[in-house]
Amino acid sequence: MSSTPIVAEVGAPVIELGLPVVGGSHHRSSAGTAGLEVSDAQRSEKLAQMRAGELGSLHSWELVTAVDGPGTRLTTFLAGCPLRCLYCHNPDTMEMRRGEPVLASELLRRVERYAGVFAVTGGGLTISGGEPLMQPAFVARLLRGATELGVHTAIDTSGYLGAHCSDEMLADIDLVLLDVKSGIPETYRRTTGRDLQPTLDFGRRVAASGTEIWIRFVLVPGLTDAPENVDAVADYVASLSTVSRVEVLPFHQMGRDKWASLGMTYELEDTSPPAPELVARVRQQFRDRGLTVY
Ligand code: SF4
Repeated sequence: MSSTPIVAEVGAPVIELGLPVVGGSHHRSSAGTAGLEVSDAQRSEKLAQMRAGELGSLHSWELVTAVDGPGTRLTTFLAGCPLRCLYCHNPDTMEMRRGEPVLASELLRRVERYAGVFAVTGGGLTISGGEPLMQPAFVARLLRGATELGVHTAIDTSGYLGAHCSDEMLADIDLVLLDVKSGIPETYRRTTGRDLQPTLDFGRRVAASGTEIWIRFVLVPGLTDAPENVDAVADYVASLSTVSRVEVLPFHQMGRDKWASLGMTYELEDTSPPAPELVARVRQQFRDRGLTVY
């Protein structure tokens, strides 16, 4: 895991990020909402705006390179998530109420501002979380707006709320970063508190639509590392025709302090990052199915 600050070096504006880059938004601590105006509309008006997808709840955003999709990307972390992953590095994104209200139009203005950077680097907009599909109307509006601007779009999702993704939304997504957190239902439930099946269904639907998929799998010793669990993930992934890469993300402890500060119980206190040999074994399990693995 690198903690080296990165800078988007692709012409003005240059934004210094100073953030750890560890490959995977669900696996990374993120910045803030600085620089984005938040709406101060009254509560009822806000609810109406949220239903219409004009207003969303945003945890933070970053400009990143070489993570969350190709090129330089504006990654937005939306607030709210139905999962409770034991290793979550941004547990403060789990509750939608902890986010800041932000207008879709405001975010899209920012997307437009970086359109030149995206074009030069082959980058674009990535909508992450939390879980983006907690706010489907807002996400649909962002995807439509970005697509109209000619900007490449990605969503980073567990797939658990895949039923919230309409066919119209899917048509506006160029890349799905699908987090498959385990392959055995019991292990998935222990890891996330939820059922595996919706993720499997969503991945199949995305593949059937022809949309590119990158898979993310967080490797946690003693939790997700059993050979049969990894085999189950790898067999499933190999069955999806549009998967172009698999990212095996070694667990680390960078989110630990957030759990304590939120008064939440962190169960992985004594879990160490996986040894290099274990990471190599798991990557090989994916490679054995002809998959491209990072
Ligand atoms: S899917 Fe899991 S890791 Fe991602 S935000 Fe939700 S709880 Fe955290």
